[in-house]
Amino acid sequence: MKKYDDIVVGGGISGLTMALILGMNGRKVLLLEKGPSVGGSVARFYKNGIPFDTGFHFTGGLQNGGILHDILTVLEVLDLIKPIFLSQDRANCFYIESEGMQYEVPYGIDNIKNKFKAYFPEETSAIDRYFGMVQKVCDDTPSMNLRTIFSEHIMADEDFITLEEVLNKLTQNPALKALLSALAMCYGVKPEEISFANHSRMCLELYHSVARIENGGNALVMAYRKKFKDYDIEIRCNTHITELADINNKKVGRFVLNSGEEVSGDNCIFTIHPREVLKIMPREYISRAFVDRVSDFESSVGFFSVYTVLDPDFEEPDFESSILSLFPHCDVNLLLDPSYKGAPALVLIKSVEHVRDKTYKTIDAFEVSFLSHVKEWEDSTTGKRPPAYQEYKKSRVDDIISRIIKVFPQYKDKLHVVDSASVLTFRDYLNSPDGSAYGIKQKMNQINLLGKLPLRNLYAAGQSALLPGIIGAMMSSFIVGRTILDEQKYREFIFRNLST
Ligand SMILES: Cc1cc2nc3c(=O)[nH]c(=O)nc-3n(C[C@H](O)[C@H](O)[C@H](O)COP(=O)(O)OP(=O)(O)OC[C@H]3O[C@@H](n4cnc5c(N)ncnc54)[C@H](O)[C@@H]3O)c2cc1C
Repeated sequence: MKKYDDIVVGGGISGLTMALILGMNGRKVLLLEKGPSVGGSVARFYKNGIPFDTGFHFTGGLQNGGILHDILTVLEVLDLIKPIFLSQDRANCFYIESEGMQYEVPYGIDNIKNKFKAYFPEETSAIDRYFGMVQKVCDDTPSMNLRTIFSEHIMADEDFITLEEVLNKLTQNPALKALLSALAMCYGVKPEEISFANHSRMCLELYHSVARIENGGNALVMAYRKKFKDYDIEIRCNTHITELADINNKKVGRFVLNSGEEVSGDNCIFTIHPREVLKIMPREYISRAFVDRVSDFESSVGFFSVYTVLDPDFEEPDFESSILSLFPHCDVNLLLDPSYKGAPALVLIKSVEHVRDKTYKTIDAFEVSFLSHVKEWEDSTTGKRPPAYQEYKKSRVDDIISRIIKVFPQYKDKLHVVDSASVLTFRDYLNSPDGSAYGIKQKMNQINLLGKLPLRNLYAAGQSALLPGIIGAMMSSFIVGRTILDEQKYREFIFRNLST
């Protein structure tokens, strides 16, 4: 039986980060990935030779001193990737169809405030107060900053009030409310369900800057893999744990893999969906309350996605400078409601991709969707779905293309659909039980699975543990690293490459 210090389960960005943190701290690490390759939702896929991003497309925090800049500096991968910052003046554009208005949102807090004040001159104090509150919450959250991660995390008052409640106190303007809650599409929870604190923690870095990464999430995966070689971190794909065995004194002694092989490890860190963790844990060692808590977690939003490419000779200046979100109206709660039947929110992300001597201009379109939309086919698997499902997909693709052509009439007859994916595709491709984009819904007053689990040497990290998006996913691994590793050594590791 091979023996490891740590076994990390799940090869998405959380698991990759967890494994690298442990490996860089001298531990012998094994990473298990159920799918055929690592990366999870940051990995790209190629169709007809054209690269598309599965999940991760853009991020905040890559500016100097930003959270992601710090994370990648500590992990020594910053120099292995190349950020591409979007247009500072209009990184995010929101088109609210019911208002017939397009709002260009820059980055840089002062720039956003000035732009919003120009759009809503009556609302200057609401705008100042909103951004002041967001900043304060983040300043008071040591766990979302590597430089302060050792301080005790104390809940803020804003952890106990929803985004919706705060916005209602600040303004009655529906368009301003929609714009201030629009980044809910980046975490998939209604304003009436998320705490103002978690909304702030998700948004602040995207207010500071918005960047893509050259070669998308694959650049991150390649960088991590390079570091894994330096630290002898072992990866096994197509592999998962089927049994936790030799449990003594609430400590797992043996991990049985689907290949039949058995390994041992001092610790095992799950970075997968909490419901998948529950499936693996033997019921006699966990309480009914724990089972209920995990079973009660709801799913965050999912997406129906269409991947398109423009004719090679199509020219457009500033093609990929901004992300365009189409909101049919201002009610973001409704747009994130699974039972809502109206036109969904649609996010369009453009990219210019260079593959050898070829250049592709791609547009990925993400329309809000939920597992309930495809419930009748939930027992089918990729490649074996019935004709009715193909018809559903075709009709949704046609609708999305019409919506794109409405806003970009210049793309008519120039835009070609290369692929599409429903929530079921995401579910099966990412081995997640609900196909949601961001794991569990981060509802106010919910206690996530983060850190120690009921069995002593098992831990939970991952996008459902703290917050979603690549920053939340990576930070969850840093928080668990703090629990597993010697504090003094961990401090030295963090500050080896970071200035204090
Ligand atoms: C459509 C979409 C768009 C997104 N856009 C952005 C964006 O622009 N910016 C951003 O920051 N974030 C974005 N996200 C979210 C971001 O990609 C995720 O929050 C983050 O990548 C999650 O990482 P993770 O490692 O926690 O989970 P995952 O990426 O889901 O990785 C989990 C891994 O575990 C594996 N696994 C599952 N079960 C097992 C098992 N039993 N044993 C072993 N392995 C297992 C899976 O195969 C998978 O590889 C998007 C997500 C989606 C789906």
